[in-house]
Amino acid sequence: MIRNLVEEHVQAAYDALRGNFPAFCGCEYCRDDIFVFALNRVPPRYVASLEGQVVTEVNLEKDQKRAEIDVVVMEAFRKVSMAPRCPKSRQAGKG
Ligand SMILES: [Zn+2]
Repeated sequence: MIRNLVEEHVQAAYDALRGNFPAFCGCEYCRDDIFVFALNRVPPRYVASLEGQVVTEVNLEKDQKRAEIDVVVMEAFRKVSMAPRCPKSRQAGKG
């Protein structure tokens, strides 16, 4: 099983930071836009794990890297909040 540690941290950052952006739509389209934006800007960090083997010790090794991901995710929130591309936002006349 292959996991991308960066993707997991983007997920964690998404959950942690979402509350700071009340203008953020939050639908699945906008959520995907956040992930696409962030994952295209942070190089992936893949690990392979055998079934049943815990790999918690293989983490993003530097806090620096986590902080970098947080910054990218915040930038994504700002961009998507300002210009959501989803049908829901278009119906609300935000575009
Ligand atoms: Zn949306």
